[in-house]
Amino acid sequence: MQFKDIVGQEEIKQRLIKSVQTGRISHTQLFLGPEGCGTLALAVAYTQFINCLQPTETDSCGQCVSCIKIQKLIHPDIHFTFPTITNTEKKKLSNEFIEEWRSTFTQNPYISELQWLLQLDEEGKKQGNITAEECRDIIRKLSLKSYEAKFKTVIIWLPEYLRLEGNILLKLLEEPPEKTLIILVAQDADKVIATILSRAQTLKIPRLKDEEIAEVLIRQAGVDAAEAETIARVSEGNLALANSLAGAGRSDYHDLFVEWMRACYGRKVDAMNLAIEKIIGTGREFIKSFTGYSLHMLRAVFLYQNADHQLIKLSEQERQFIVKFSIAFNNDNIEHITKALNQSTFHLERNADLRITFLNLSLYIAQRMIKPKQA
Ligand SMILES: [Zn+2]
Repeated sequence: MQFKDIVGQEEIKQRLIKSVQTGRISHTQLFLGPEGCGTLALAVAYTQFINCLQPTETDSCGQCVSCIKIQKLIHPDIHFTFPTITNTEKKKLSNEFIEEWRSTFTQNPYISELQWLLQLDEEGKKQGNITAEECRDIIRKLSLKSYEAKFKTVIIWLPEYLRLEGNILLKLLEEPPEKTLIILVAQDADKVIATILSRAQTLKIPRLKDEEIAEVLIRQAGVDAAEAETIARVSEGNLALANSLAGAGRSDYHDLFVEWMRACYGRKVDAMNLAIEKIIGTGREFIKSFTGYSLHMLRAVFLYQNADHQLIKLSEQERQFIVKFSIAFNNDNIEHITKALNQSTFHLERNADLRITFLNLSLYIAQRMIKPKQA
């Protein structure tokens, strides 16, 4: 992974490069940024730059022995820790999942937490974990003599999964062996235990800009400019989500959303159940993007009612839906429904039962929608 392969984040790249050039590499760092902004990719590119044998002023060379090994994630001194799910083969340690990890990251360096966990457990029912044994394994790996790297490194993705067992690492984080680098890559500082947080130097990484996401979608996914712009706005800086939305095709989301809203509006539980079955049938990853799309549509209704219509960029299908359905909404219920939708997304990401969550949500929406006055 070279810096040039990473979308945007120019200022962060400059800072990282400078820290290496001036020899100011702190031994324990926390890369903190929202999902889909490229934190993990940056951690790998930074590690590659540090260890490159012939770096240029702006990037690693991408061709030396060290770069090639890091690109394939097979360097003996560069280790990875990430949440795992204990499977039927009783695998537990990150090392035991390293093949899956390599192929996943090399295909998609913007992998989301949910995408990764679904790789390990298709049904998405089991919780991910970073275990006490994994912590001990990190200490063991870093205590070994370096084979060839300038800096022995461990990249810990999602330290949010470390609970009290994370305290096993405290001494290591505070005083790692010489020429050792520990990079924690997190999304939510509030969920990282305080004892770990206080021992790392934090680098805050911002979300991507809409233009940056749109540009990638046009260039890499072959999405047309107008579509790319809308997806970028819906994704709110999250390239993992943007890629899912671009992959599924926006009209799929739209058709499902319309069917679902019609069912809610009609207050018919049968129709609701039918729409819910269709939504659930698409799988957890799609559902997450679908709730993102639904939020986007609610915002569009809000803008349609409160602002200049020209401000909203929509497909013709979407415009028709909004013109027709805006009678069911006002500022008050949009606010409540948006909150409920956000809350459900939160539960869905934590493996709540899909059917129950969607049925509750549908009933809530049905109740909040404004019904036409009976003639
Ligand atoms: Zn190199």
